[in-house]
Amino acid sequence: MLGPVILAASRSDRMRRLISAAPVTRQVVDRFIPGETVDDIVPVIKDLTAEGLELTMDVVGEDITTPEQATAARDAYLRLVERLKELELGPRVEMSVKLSMFGQSLPGGHELALANVRPVVEAAAAIGTTVTLDAEDHTTLDSMFAIHEELRKDFPQTGCVIQAYLFRTEADARRLAASGSRVRLVKGAYKEPAEVAYQQKHEIDKAYVRILKTLMEGEGYPMVGSHDPRLISIAQDLAHKAGRKLDEYEFQMLYGIRGDEHLRLAAEGHRMRVYTAYGTDWYGYFMRRLAEKPANLRFFVRSMISKG
Ligand SMILES: Cc1cc2nc3c(=O)[nH]c(=O)nc-3n(C[C@H](O)[C@H](O)[C@H](O)COP(=O)(O)OP(=O)(O)OC[C@H]3O[C@@H](n4cnc5c(N)ncnc54)[C@H](O)[C@@H]3O)c2cc1C
Repeated sequence: MLGPVILAASRSDRMRRLISAAPVTRQVVDRFIPGETVDDIVPVIKDLTAEGLELTMDVVGEDITTPEQATAARDAYLRLVERLKELELGPRVEMSVKLSMFGQSLPGGHELALANVRPVVEAAAAIGTTVTLDAEDHTTLDSMFAIHEELRKDFPQTGCVIQAYLFRTEADARRLAASGSRVRLVKGAYKEPAEVAYQQKHEIDKAYVRILKTLMEGEGYPMVGSHDPRLISIAQDLAHKAGRKLDEYEFQMLYGIRGDEHLRLAAEGHRMRVYTAYGTDWYGYFMRRLAEKPANLRFFVRSMISKG
């Protein structure tokens, strides 16, 4: 019940100001977003990769309002690539981008986002790694898939994300699986209306399994984005049945969530990639993490009351 309320708050400027200014917020945010600058994040990258984990890096920020902010987002990713080049980690550290941050929702946004993301994809390829396009709310997805297809002409390793809660996703998965794409499957983190998305957890979970089966049996590279123990075990079975070796799919989880499980899967020989977000504009990302688990919100509110 709380999830949709928190997701609605994630769109409110008033709530953004209140929560960002609360003295205890930073401590709670740190659990999910372990740094604000590229300098903060380099030691985190070193530590996690030393533990046998792979990473996908996200510079937080969305809902931008000017083309200059979109250019700044592009430049933030290019600075990250420069640092990754020095670390020589190749495909062990890739990047995730939200096209909204590259200007997708501004006038002429589709072309603007493509123009801003292309240099990042090129720079990633030059250091032997790649980029995955995150999935945002359903109104943005036709543009995201078109940009993905366009980028794949020159950079076939470019990945994208599909969300099990949307009715459209089974068809998207069939198309992407046939074209040999890298595809991350997640449950979906936005507030979507009943006309386009399943609302009940059991329906979303069932859809996740159907879509995962399509991806595992297809030609592409499935990236299983979930912390759900049941789905992780089903993914292992489906991969086995589809004759995939351990390096022919991977698991992905978010930084700060089920860290022991990251290490357990990596120790079993799985490719385990940790989605690691950093930056100053963390509000939207943080609120989605609160919405996913009411206990996070209770913890946050308790800290505000006890310190306030
Ligand atoms: C690598 C990765 C990338 C993602 N990219 C996108 C994207 O591009 N677009 C998009 O819409 N969504 C994205 N998501 C978010 C996703 O849609 C879900 O909202 C999120 O993963 C929670 O779903 P779950 O599969 O973990 O299952 P759930 O049933 O929500 O959770 C299973 C268990 O995981 C733990 N858990 C899950 N979330 C939290 C949390 N926030 N805090 C603490 N514990 C938690 C709990 O123990 C919970 O019982 C991404 C998720 C991952 C892992």
